[in-house]
Amino acid sequence: MSTRVVVVTGSNKGIGLAIVRALCKQFEGDVFLTARDVSRGEEAVQALNTEGLKPMFHQLDIDDLNSIKTAADFFKEKYGGVDVLVNNAAIAFKMADTTPFGIQAEVTVKTNFFSTRNMLTCFSELIKPGGRVVNVSSMVSVRALNQCNPDLQQQFRNENITEEELGDLMQRFIDDAKKGEHKQCGWPDTAYGVSKIGVTVLSMIHARRLSKERPNDGILLNACCPGWVRTDMAGPKAPKSPDEGAITPVYLALLPPGAKEPHGQFVSEKTVQKW
Ligand code: NDP
Repeated sequence: MSTRVVVVTGSNKGIGLAIVRALCKQFEGDVFLTARDVSRGEEAVQALNTEGLKPMFHQLDIDDLNSIKTAADFFKEKYGGVDVLVNNAAIAFKMADTTPFGIQAEVTVKTNFFSTRNMLTCFSELIKPGGRVVNVSSMVSVRALNQCNPDLQQQFRNENITEEELGDLMQRFIDDAKKGEHKQCGWPDTAYGVSKIGVTVLSMIHARRLSKERPNDGILLNACCPGWVRTDMAGPKAPKSPDEGAITPVYLALLPPGAKEPHGQFVSEKTVQKW
């Protein structure tokens, strides 16, 4: 049997790094720390080496389709696919950032939604039978959903929504934000929140697709919230350490063989949340 392998995006720091740390201890196989910046990635690998852990490294910038494809080809070639994929990489503008909202919307939705979508597009067929896919979203997606107007809420909750329709909605948010009209068009005033609505709904769409197209492969795909975690993104006041933030993503990454659920869910504190 070939060596099992896990890939974690954006794992040179923060929750991603903590997910790699936990998986190095708990996963039987190769654990890949990935980063868009090779030197930041290699430094993170060295930091884990000093803890006696031995992650592998591959460059992976989710905003760069060539980088995604190069990584996908590598895992296909070397491992015949991927056993566990954790889509953790994301960005958030700081509250105090004065970048115009339309630009914040475009940049945030591009990385958090469209680049995560590119990851899923390129890696989905690589996920091996029994594989696990974890998309790190946020409870903020639930809050943002509840702040959308009823029509948008209905569309984001519609179990028949297609990936294309979801992409169109994300693009509509960007366009409305650029015109300064997002609030009157029924969107919440949070680019990060809308991007994470996209991640949660995209996860549900991909899970349904897996169930339909690969019903016997036993792959489980979920979105999750790590909680409010002390990282560069969330700041020092958050209650959870990165290792504590890694608990729910790692739980989903290591759902035992033969498990049937959760699948296509949004999970927080190891518990399925209402969408
Ligand atoms: P950090 O900002 O600490 O880390 C984000 C990581 O993502 C970094 O490694 C960063 O790399 C990487 N990244 C950003 N853009 C890209 C890209 N284009 N390609 C590859 N990697 C990229 O954030 P957190 O650890 O706090 O966040 C991890 C995840 O958890 C995110 O999805 C976030 O939205 C989510 N989350 C976090 C919460 C919190 O309280 N912290 C709460 C809810 C959800 P680089 O160092 O190069 O910038």
